[in-house]
Amino acid sequence: MTERHRDAAAADAGAPGRAAPAEKAGRRARRRRAPPAPPCRLHEQAAAALVEAAGEDVAFVLGPDVLWWAAGPGGDAWSAESAVSRLVQGLYDLHGTRAARLLRRPVWSTRDVDPFGLGLVKVHAKRLYRVTPRDHGLAPPPAREVRWAFAPPPAPEVPAHPRPGDVAGWAEVARRLAARAPASDAGPRWASDRRVAALLLAPDGALLGAALNTHGRNRTLHAEVNLALGHAAATGAPLPPGATVVVSLRPCKACAGLLWAAAADPARLRVVYAQDDPGPAARNTVLCLGSDPRRRFARTTAELQAPCLVPAPAPGAPG
Ligand SMILES: [Zn+2]
Repeated sequence: MTERHRDAAAADAGAPGRAAPAEKAGRRARRRRAPPAPPCRLHEQAAAALVEAAGEDVAFVLGPDVLWWAAGPGGDAWSAESAVSRLVQGLYDLHGTRAARLLRRPVWSTRDVDPFGLGLVKVHAKRLYRVTPRDHGLAPPPAREVRWAFAPPPAPEVPAHPRPGDVAGWAEVARRLAARAPASDAGPRWASDRRVAALLLAPDGALLGAALNTHGRNRTLHAEVNLALGHAAATGAPLPPGATVVVSLRPCKACAGLLWAAAADPARLRVVYAQDDPGPAARNTVLCLGSDPRRRFARTTAELQAPCLVPAPAPGAPG
């Protein structure tokens, strides 16, 4: 934190109730947009050591005993993953739902965040900060690497194949798949698999993939994550331009971020959902027109204005 930030924070704390309402609202909005980063000489030092060991794209969280870190994919091959996504997903693999406690601490990244990393942090962690690696001559904290590798779960058998372009028909298929999905009954209810299904359709309407939520295995493995990472693992390529993703439930921020990041052309991506999700996780996602993440991540006017997210037409309606 710089001196100026510290002063601003002190001024905020020192004058309760004296600011005009508009000024207070402005401050609240500023705080929501850009929470001040805590002082971080140790984080800068840790980042410097990790970057030296593993390359420029690293993310970490400083736990009570050890610093957990992950490296991004690096190299020239296309990937929707990043150090942030590998850290968050890998920690849920290592620690199960106890990772949520660790991830209440700030996540630090040496790179600007991508839509998937930001969505994962919003849904499954707390706060994300950019850190600049700097050598302060401090001893870096003991560190452990999180090596996350996505293992695609078995794809479900798709019960019907509506004609290409029959979006309502495909939405009905997604609903049926979700309804038939096995829900794990081990453990508490909140840890078991929520019944959600996602389908990937090529621009010509052909079925390219299907996936279910396996949230009981790893909290971050929503159906869309299994679908998009599964497609990337199988093909090494992004979702084709003009692809349609059909989901039984409106995507959360993490899934929306991944679909956007995984699309070869986000301006031509269509995500059709059969059932709305009124919860906060599915609000203001990068797929929503005019949302904060859309303004942040759109690189062209076409991407800014693309109607990516659409409710499914009623069954029987022309697609
Ligand atoms: Zn999701």
